[in-house]
Formats: sequence, structure tokens, C-alpha cells
Amino acid sequence: MSTNTSQSAWNRYRSIPIVYRIGAAFVLGSLVGLIVGEPATRLQPLGDLFIRLLSMIVIPIVVFTLIMGVRELAPSTLGKVGGQVVALYAITSIIAVSIGLAIANLIDPGAGLTLTEAEFDTAEAPNIVEVFLGIVPENPIGAMAAGEVLPTIFFALVFGLALTIIREESHDETVHNGIDSIFNIMEAGAEALFKIVWGVMEYGVIGVFALMASVFGQAGADALVPFALLIVALAIAVTIHIAVVYLGGIIMLLTHQSPIAFLAGSKEAMITALSIRSSSGTLPVTMSNADENLRINEGVYGFSLPLGATINMDGTAMYQGVAAIFAANLVGVSLSIGEQITVVAIAVLASIGSAGVPGTGLIMLTLVLTQLGLPLEVVGFVAGVDPILDRMRTMTNITGDLAVATVVGHWNGAVDFGAGVWNGTVGEAATSD
Ligand code: ASP
Repeated sequence: MSTNTSQSAWNRYRSIPIVYRIGAAFVLGSLVGLIVGEPATRLQPLGDLFIRLLSMIVIPIVVFTLIMGVRELAPSTLGKVGGQVVALYAITSIIAVSIGLAIANLIDPGAGLTLTEAEFDTAEAPNIVEVFLGIVPENPIGAMAAGEVLPTIFFALVFGLALTIIREESHDETVHNGIDSIFNIMEAGAEALFKIVWGVMEYGVIGVFALMASVFGQAGADALVPFALLIVALAIAVTIHIAVVYLGGIIMLLTHQSPIAFLAGSKEAMITALSIRSSSGTLPVTMSNADENLRINEGVYGFSLPLGATINMDGTAMYQGVAAIFAANLVGVSLSIGEQITVVAIAVLASIGSAGVPGTGLIMLTLVLTQLGLPLEVVGFVAGVDPILDRMRTMTNITGDLAVATVVGHWNGAVDFGAGVWNGTVGEAATSD
């Protein structure tokens, strides 16, 4: 009897879509953190476990989906897809910083505040030559073992391409069969990894609760007050960017699809990014949304999403604009148009070389401030609220990746608009195809 009751309670719990359960955990965790305060930070390890579980899947899912994805694309198409993806990444990032600067100029966050010293260890900002050289791994296994996404993409892409080319050129049946087996193994492996993603998301309900309780337990509501305008400015900029550029521009105008369907298809990735503030860590969920909900072909998303998690950071770039104005206001100077254009250039370039991990935006800010001659203490000053700002940035970053994958998929006939969210038949734990 009681087993039946608990069984049906469990079933009822499971019947609630995972995104709502995680959403509720997000809100409840934040409240618990605010109410309980410091002791709530002891829950952090439960949150760390969620992040570790997701990180565990990142490299294998990139390798498997990318190699099997290359099978779907002719080498010439790959070049075209790559060009479109990179161009859109650059354009949307430039628009993002410009929106960030415009909103911050309007709202003037930081005006009236004075800078108080805070501890911050400035980390090294990436050097652009090293970034480009670093794309080629000296040792592919080493790159995978170290969890480096760009060199892993490079190797998987080259390997996948070599397999497709040999498959066309060779007349040896053994080689053909071998290559087909490799592709089939990759496909089965990717399916298994997507299965794991959904299992990890079940645990995410606890993980997100713990992460939010811990972050608010540490910061406390009072600590947020001086930064309220900064938070509001970023929130407005992010909302405008998502609504106008992604939903209006990319999904409605360029893809001719419903923005609601797109959001429905991206929601698990968005809430995961909001919770763990890492584009790279969210990658397994982003890929699974692209595959199962948005029905994009792995030939496109297998390449564009891991790349986007590393080089496409609209939210992060946008934050540089908002934070630069904030910093200028703190010291009572105003930025000229020329200086604001400098911010756009640095933000876009620096986001190429920075990994999508928590706090990257803060490290990039050191570059922007140095270039503008503004005090680096600002970085320490805002570090305390960065866990909140970072969440908005990361959610924007991955939504941009998915929007670009959708439109590039559409341009190349690589999205099935008759299935998934597009015709409203998506199950959250559906296995693809
Ligand atoms: N956490 C962000 C990401 O992973 C980067 C940042 O803005 O700090 O995309």
C-alpha cells in the first residue's frame, strides 16, 4: 500500500517536466539561501556534484557527435556552414556589446557610488596568438584529457573528415566496413550520452537547489543593494538581446519559425546555464536540446555548439559594455565614443579566446579596464555579485549558440521543422529519432 503511494508520488513528480522542477529548485534554493544565510553554503558540494556530472559528459559528447556529424556533411558544405556560423557569432557579439553600452549609458549604473577596495587576484588574460595556436593540439588525447574543447573540436573534425574522404576514395571493403562501424559506434555512443544527460538533469533538481542556496547564503540580500542598477542594466540588456536579436531577428525573420517553439526547445539548456554559469558545462544539455527538441542535424550542431561554447559569448561581451560604463561612473569619468568602440573591439576579440567557464567575464573585464585606463579594483568590487551577473551572461551565451545553430541549420536544410518543438511533439526525455 505505502509502496504504491510512494510509487505514485514518484510518478507524479516525474511527470512534471524537468525544467519546471529545476526552476522550482532554483527559486526555493535562492530563498533558502537568503533566509538561512551562511550555513546554506554547506550545501555547495551537492551543487558541485551536478557540475561534475555535466562536465564528465562534455568531451565524449563533443567527440562522438562531431565525428558522426561530419558523416552528414560534404567537406565543401562544412566550410560553408563554418563560415556562416562564425560570421553570425561575430555579428551577434558586436550587437550585444552595443546594446550593453546603450543601456548602461541610459541607466548609468554606478553613478553616485564610490569604489571600495576588495580582494581580487587578476588572472592572466589570453594572448590572441596563443589562442589561435592552441586550437591545434600537440597531443589530441592530452587535449581531451585536459578537457580543452577547441583542440578537441579540431582533432575530431579532422579525423571525421579523413574518414569520410577515405570512405569515398577507397575501394577496399574492409576499410568501408571499418569506417561505417566507427560512425555507428559514434552514433550509439552519442545516444548513450544523451541518455546520461537526462539522468544527470534528474539529479540537477537537487544540484541547482544547493547551488542557489549556497550563492545567496554567501552574498545575502544586503550585499546586492549597491549593485542593484548594475544587475538591472544587465538584465534589461540581456532581455532586449534575446528578444530582438535571437527571437525576432534570427528565429522569426531569418528562420521564419515561432520564437515560442524555439524557447520551448531551448529551455532546459537555458535553465542549466542559469544554474551552473558555465557554457562548457551546459554543453551536453545544449546539444541534447538541439538534437531532440530543435531537431537540428548533428552535422551542424555537433560543430557549431562546442565552438560556440568557447568563442561565442554575447552575454559576456555585452557585460563588458555595461561594466565599463559602471567602472567609469565609479571613478566619475565618462567614456568617449572612441573608448566605447574600443570596448566593443576588445570584448568581441577577448570572448574568442576565453573559455565558457564561471567568471570568465570578470577576467575579461581586467583587459577592458586596463585598455581604458580604469582602476582594476573595480573587478574586485563587482566580484561579489558576479555569480549573479554571470548567470545572466551564460544563459545569453548558450541561447545565442542555439539560435545560430537553428538558422544555419535552416539555411543548409539541416533542421527537421516537421518534428520536435516545431510541431509540438516533443517529450522531454525523448530519445532522438
Ligand atoms: N560563465 C560564462 C560562460 O560560461 C562566461 C562569463 O561570462 O563569465 O559562458
